Amino acid sequence: MRLLKSRNFLIVSISAFCCLVYSETVATPGELIAIKLNENAQEYSSNNLIIEQGKNKYMIIPVAHDQKEIIIGKYKIKVLEKDFGESRITISNLSMVDLNNEDMERAYKESQLIRAAISTYSDNKKPSLNFLQPVDGVISSRYGKKRFINDSPRSPHLALDIAAPEGTSIIAPADAKVILTGNFFYGGNYIILDHGYGMLTSYSHLSKIVVAKGDMVKQSDLIGEVGSTGRVTGPHLHWTVYLNKVRINPESLLKENYLSSLLEAI
Ligand SMILES: [Zn+2]
Repeated sequence: MRLLKSRNFLIVSISAFCCLVYSETVATPGELIAIKLNENAQEYSSNNLIIEQGKNKYMIIPVAHDQKEIIIGKYKIKVLEKDFGESRITISNLSMVDLNNEDMERAYKESQLIRAAISTYSDNKKPSLNFLQPVDGVISSRYGKKRFINDSPRSPHLALDIAAPEGTSIIAPADAKVILTGNFFYGGNYIILDHGYGMLTSYSHLSKIVVAKGDMVKQSDLIGEVGSTGRVTGPHLHWTVYLNKVRINPESLLKENYLSSLLEAI
């Protein structure tokens, strides 16, 4: 039985006789952590993204923005507190804020459809953890901000907003399959891409969608154009990244050598 630790890295090594209890490793909300697995650790690896490097296998786990600790089998990993700041927006069209019954029903049905799509788990291709930024533009709202609409507290902003002029190209950040497209109450013209192994991305408020459900796209292929459909204050892309249904910080996937940075603390 062997255990090594560092700030964001944990080696899990399990003997035939027992498991370990571990509490010193820490993680950051909205980020991923890598856990090194030994050959006998199969019980922890089902339905998780496993990256192989040389002889080693690493399980990649998402950390939710409000998670306090991660429990994997008998392991506990503490999650640090992080202040993401806040964002206050004004939406003058009050029918987009206080929904009538019809819109509420529509938004609810759409949320169920999106939830089902986000649960997709395909295992024919492993995702890259090295994404391209889908739009050339200015970051107008970061991941994790507490959100207030017309001074009322709302759900936190668990996506990245990139402002760009209407019609700016949106590209696939990595190879993917298009699993949902449509026009939604909040998201406007909307796309979900499946990158494999529970890694999905979504694109909201588009003026134009140029792909269809079932299409396979390659990294940097055009998927649509920036717009201001749905509930928005101006043209931008609202870009969400999911792993295992957990929304993580999209900006991390844009860092050069992000995967290496997760693995390097051996
Ligand atoms: Zn947004």
